[in-house]
Amino acid sequence: MHLTNHSDTSLKKSLHSVMGDLGHEQVVFYSDVPTGLKAIIAIHSTVLGPGMGGTRFWNYASDEKAVTDALRLSRGMTYKNAIAGLNAGGGKAVIIGSPGIKSEALLRSFGRFIDGLGGQYITAEDVGMCAQDMEYIGMETSYVTGLSEIKGGGGDPSPVTAYGVYMGIKAAANKTYGSDDISGKRIFVQGVGHVGSQLVKLLVKEHAEVLISDIDEHRVSEVANTYKVEVVDASNWVDLSMDIYAPCALGATLNNESIPRLKCQIIAGGANNQLEVEDIHAQMLEERGIVYAPDFLINSGGIINVYQEYMGNYRRELAYQKTEEIYEICLDLLEKAKNTGVTTHQAALQMAKDRISAMEQD
Ligand code: NAD
Repeated sequence: MHLTNHSDTSLKKSLHSVMGDLGHEQVVFYSDVPTGLKAIIAIHSTVLGPGMGGTRFWNYASDEKAVTDALRLSRGMTYKNAIAGLNAGGGKAVIIGSPGIKSEALLRSFGRFIDGLGGQYITAEDVGMCAQDMEYIGMETSYVTGLSEIKGGGGDPSPVTAYGVYMGIKAAANKTYGSDDISGKRIFVQGVGHVGSQLVKLLVKEHAEVLISDIDEHRVSEVANTYKVEVVDASNWVDLSMDIYAPCALGATLNNESIPRLKCQIIAGGANNQLEVEDIHAQMLEERGIVYAPDFLINSGGIINVYQEYMGNYRRELAYQKTEEIYEICLDLLEKAKNTGVTTHQAALQMAKDRISAMEQD
């Protein structure tokens, strides 16, 4: 069964059969009427360690959509943590509601929910959550990471994520051009938020020819005023002439419409779930001869950073050191994909699954 960004986990079947298909161990629902908290924690695998993955705060249109997201994201975390070499399994939490309902009481109630799972799930930030939210959760449980530097945490993981993406770009360049020197390469960074802007910094430093886009004009002008970049229209990127496409905004930009038109040799970016339908679109890229560096490997710097924080004695240079390994892992998987005739996405999944099965047999 392949997993799409949108629908394959939809609950047309019973929840238990979907969990069985996808291999989830546990899905837990929590409701706290006084604070308005409605949360779901999905634990996909604890073979390598406790399920680790962020909490997403989102105004889901239905409970079904929230469960679907929790299932999909927690499964993704299993493979991301495995391929990054972390001793952590895959888990993810979602809180259903509009940002307006977020309060100290709600977050602390959520912290107690996590605590009740006795360490099977460790949370961190994701969409809709911030370091302050993690602090409230941390008042009720120690199973939380991603705290601010002031509170003894590792701070914003985005620069480490960007560094991992940069490693992925260099590995893919090595494979494609025979050298990881990216000076003079035309690289399009789509989305210059936390990750994209840090990536631009690294690319410009190496004299790449960087193009940027963002739907937020403030982000565009901030980055364009800081670095030598070319600004392109956010709605008009598919036909751009470029060597490397680095998606750093939203997912699903690699789809039936974009892939036939893309003019690049490499895709390597920080956005999650870049392939709209994983197997189909990875195959289409393969057929077009475009080297795709799997997103869940090369954007794992962020989880590496919060994992190091959770393990204690956090030092950012160690997080960078571990993130640097993405270069070798990526080279290895690109080689494996070529030798075995599978897509780079499948090769990455297989590497993650192999590590999990090896531990299961231990
Ligand atoms: P962010 O919100 O700071 O930045 C995303 C940027 O993309 C924003 O500036 C937004 O305006 C822009 N954007 C949205 N739609 C766009 C479009 N159609 N065209 C161009 N720009 C558009 O988020 P972030 O933390 O930088 O994360 C970026 C991506 O990387 C997300 O997919 C996220 O899930 C993933 N990711 C982030 C981290 C991390 O450490 N922050 C770790 C792993 C994965």
